[in-house]
Formats: sequence, structure tokens, C-alpha cells
Amino acid sequence: MDVTLLGTGSPLPDPRRAGPSTLVTTPTERILVDAGRAVVMRLAAAGTLPVMLNAVLVTHLHSDHLTDLNDVITTHWVMSGQPTPLTIYGPPRMSEVVAGTLAALAPDISYRLAHHTDTLTWEPRVNVVEVQPGDEFTIGAVAVKVGKTDHRPVEPTVAYRLTHESSCVVLGGDGIPCDTLDELCRGAGAYVQTVLRDDLVKLIPNKRFLDILDYHSTVEQAAQTAARAGVGKLILTHYVPSMQPGQEDEWRAIAARHFSGEIVLGDDLTTTSV
Ligand SMILES: [Zn+2]
Ligand SMILES: [Zn+2]
Repeated sequence: MDVTLLGTGSPLPDPRRAGPSTLVTTPTERILVDAGRAVVMRLAAAGTLPVMLNAVLVTHLHSDHLTDLNDVITTHWVMSGQPTPLTIYGPPRMSEVVAGTLAALAPDISYRLAHHTDTLTWEPRVNVVEVQPGDEFTIGAVAVKVGKTDHRPVEPTVAYRLTHESSCVVLGGDGIPCDTLDELCRGAGAYVQTVLRDDLVKLIPNKRFLDILDYHSTVEQAAQTAARAGVGKLILTHYVPSMQPGQEDEWRAIAARHFSGEIVLGDDLTTTSV
């Protein structure tokens, strides 16, 4: 199984980093986790088009994780040769978000149907599955388990454990450490966590920015979760503030004080095998 950090950014615009999204691939599956800013551009750079996706998994409904879901839906639709549904798994209210997205796309959908009368005769088909912690299902040969995370006051939020043969990766999404995340991560080959540097965030005297401290894992906390759960590899993403070129070793060293396994971080399109 390969894990590609398609977008390593956050809500803060950064020309070098797309919004949060991660691609998990096996020889036969391509699964997108979250769909942040510029996700389709990064997917293309990773050699994957939306029409090639088996499913999209959404960890929570914060806009930075969803802002380009409309592009995934539209590009999947216009590049499909036949009416093929795009399956999106997400927490409760996922249906509401997809319905609103499709409503916003209504003029575009009508224009394309009216123009491509012979070759595009169906509206976008999106199959939404709202998930709960504890749910288990399969996407092709990949087994998926849903776990509860703590990103309050954003509720509900979930993490996903993906298992393919003997490989296993947990996509933690946003949130602070909690028992249910520890349990989901137990013994996983890799754990992807969105992180912030509290030491740097605290330097910025802006109340709205400081507010984010209480519902995101710090680099230290992500490393502690990885150590408690005994995961093989810690993969860090969604860097707040944005990790600057040359700072990778500094960020890695902070995590390494708490976790002795391999620590992966980097630019968009960083890929690691699990
Ligand atoms: Zn986020
Ligand atoms: Zn969030």
C-alpha cells in the first residue's frame, strides 16, 4: 500500500501546499481521503484522475478538507464514459454537503447536458454513505474501519483504518489525542496525522489563530499517539503554520523525541510505502 500526501496545507493559503488530502493506493484500489484545495491538480500529478477513484473518504466537514470536492465530482462526471457513481463516505451531514454541492453545480450540469446531448446524458451520480464510529466495510480489497476522533466543537469527526493484506494505515484527520484514536491506531503500519506547532502558533498574537490550538494535535501529541499505539511509521501533514523549506528536520526532531519509528513529512506528493 502506498500513501501519498496530495495536499499538506491547511486553511492558510500557501502557494506551495494544496489543501488537506491524501491518496491511498494498492495495486487495485485508489482511495482519496479528504478533498482540500487543489486536490484534483495534485491527484493528476500523482497519476490519478477522479474517474479512477474507488471511493472518497471524508474525515470531517471542515471546509479545508472539502473545498474542492466539487471539482472531484465534476471531473469524475465529465470524464466518465458511462453513468458511474462516485462513492463518498463521510460523517453525518455528508449527504447535506453533497446535495448542496450538487445544487451549486446545477447551472453547470444543465449547460453540459444541453451541449453534449449524444455523449453525456446523465447527471453526476454520487453515492453518499454516512458512517458512524465502529462501522466496517470494504472498498475492493481494502477493509475499512471507522473510529471516533476528538475535534470538538466539530462533531462528529472520524478517522479511518485501511487494511490491505498485511498492510495497514490509519488516517487520523484533525483532532486531539483520544482513547478511540489510540485504539484505531493500535499496531498499524502507519498513522497519518494532521498537526500544528503550538510553539510557533503561540507567537502570533491573533485570537482567531490561537483558537485553533485546543482542537488540533501538536507534533508532540501525534508522536505520543504513535508511540502509545505502537504504529510502525508516523506520517505528518496539514502543517500549521506552513512548514517552510528547510524546516523538515526541525519538525521531525520534535516528533522524534516521543516516537522512535520512522517519521515521514515533506512537500505535497510525498509518497511512502506501508
Ligand atoms: Zn483541517
Ligand atoms: Zn478540522
